[in-house]
Amino acid sequence: MLLGGALVFGSTAALAANPWEGLKSPSQQDPASIGSYTNGCLSGAREMPLRGEGFQLVRTGRDRHYGNPTLIHFLQDFSNEVAQEGLGRIQIGDMSMARGGPFSSGHRSHQTGLDADIWYSQDSRSLQRPLSGWERDNIAAVPLADARKHSLIRENWNGKVPRILRLASEDPRVERIFVHPTIKRELCNNAGSDNAWLSKIRPWWGHNYHFHVRLACPEGDASCVPQAPVRNEPCGADLDWWFSDEFYAMLNGTAPAKEKPEPTEKPPMPQQCAQVLQAR
Ligand SMILES: [Zn+2]
Repeated sequence: MLLGGALVFGSTAALAANPWEGLKSPSQQDPASIGSYTNGCLSGAREMPLRGEGFQLVRTGRDRHYGNPTLIHFLQDFSNEVAQEGLGRIQIGDMSMARGGPFSSGHRSHQTGLDADIWYSQDSRSLQRPLSGWERDNIAAVPLADARKHSLIRENWNGKVPRILRLASEDPRVERIFVHPTIKRELCNNAGSDNAWLSKIRPWWGHNYHFHVRLACPEGDASCVPQAPVRNEPCGADLDWWFSDEFYAMLNGTAPAKEKPEPTEKPPMPQQCAQVLQAR
């Protein structure tokens, strides 16, 4: 829907007809991540190969394995390092749609081709051979934390996980990595003073089956809206809130009812996205 040159997805009806979800090929434009991670789109996207050194795509039936070329290069470099370090083969899930943009449900971010979800678990079949199309869409991810009890699932923990997260975190292209708070706590408990790499590892809801890697805006990409870099202590007090009474009340739905906030207008998408939508 075009309103005054800006794309607006305010109503449920508009969401039901989300044009971004119908576009199956990247735009034939120069690559750019346009707007912010939660309100933007992607021109000139690259498709991630199904499999390569150190990685295997999963859930490819969703058509969300596109990214800014910077993300594709990062994922390939990172996967190569994972393989060289003997850490197996990572399984990469959702990235962005062919032209980025918003999803009707699920992700809020992943809109500009700079976000990728990577499973903590590695299926033994994918270590040995390429997965079939059916397997890519149906093999199960293994959770490392119980999101309801808010505790680590020890029997699923794997010593490779901290090493893989550290490789990603120490890449200068990476700005943030989201993990379940219980996983962040476990990493902090075991890191001792060698914990500078944990600054970028941020506790967040969900993320018990996968971690989410977010790259900074690519250099020279003027249309990309950056986030403030993280400046927190690697294992500072901000982690404590996730284990507070207030948090558990929210988790268990026993928090006192708050005044319902006024619904806020969704900001319009960047003007440039109208061209991305219409480009060949
Ligand atoms: Zn994600």
